[in-house]
Amino acid sequence: MKTAYVMDKQTKQTTTYLKLYKSDLHIHTCLSPCADLYMTPRKIINQCAEKGLDIIAVCDHNSCENAKYVIEAAKKYNIMVIPGMEITTIEEVHLLGLFSNYRQSLKMQNKVYSELEGENNEDLFGVQAVVNEHDEVMNLNNKLLIGASKLTLQQAVECIHKYGGLAICSHVDREGFGIIGQLGFIPDDLSIDAIEISCHTTNIKPLLERNPELGKFPMFFSSDAHTLDCIGAAFTVLLLNNPSFREIKLAIHERAQRQIRSHGVC
Ligand SMILES: [Zn+2]
Ligand SMILES: [Zn+2]
Repeated sequence: MKTAYVMDKQTKQTTTYLKLYKSDLHIHTCLSPCADLYMTPRKIINQCAEKGLDIIAVCDHNSCENAKYVIEAAKKYNIMVIPGMEITTIEEVHLLGLFSNYRQSLKMQNKVYSELEGENNEDLFGVQAVVNEHDEVMNLNNKLLIGASKLTLQQAVECIHKYGGLAICSHVDREGFGIIGQLGFIPDDLSIDAIEISCHTTNIKPLLERNPELGKFPMFFSSDAHTLDCIGAAFTVLLLNNPSFREIKLAIHERAQRQIRSHGVC
């Protein structure tokens, strides 16, 4: 977190009530079958502290069960943890839902679980471990979290908004499970709040030239980390008054001088 000096438009005074916060809003845990088993709540938070991250979002495939334990693990640190999930829609598009608190994310999870069929095959897809803030295994989730839900993109976005969340199209720069790769475009009537660029894109210009419509959306760079070393590989710096969900919403809409200030890939 760094102090930023901002000019107040009305008074022309420089104020310091806004600060810069480094965020990575797409991190998987060991609950995602494709993520490393070392992605436990404690290890994730330790790594985030080392990388100087102030705000993170936990986004496992079609589930938020580990988010509450990452929130617990972060309590001794100055790190804000947003509970979220990466929903796979019926079009096989990945969509992030980020929520103001765990209770709201659970409502979304219930909806997604009701639209998700099949059982996990650990040999084929990997283990789905629910792990608490002490890195103890609580249970193994047996749902087919890697599968596609029966929710359409439209329904998933509507549902995220119904529960007060933010809907962000995951890794739009990637072919697999990105909205451009799957559909070829972003439908005009899809009311997403932002798009996400992955750590694989260092230069955004060619992507925007190919897909100019992407330029109209607020843009986050996030790591989509499945291993500890990838955490913070892509990040977004936000100008906020304090690290809260409300402030992030203000930054997305560029209100009250809050803003998405810069991006980085390392
Ligand atoms: Zn994804
Ligand atoms: Zn992901």
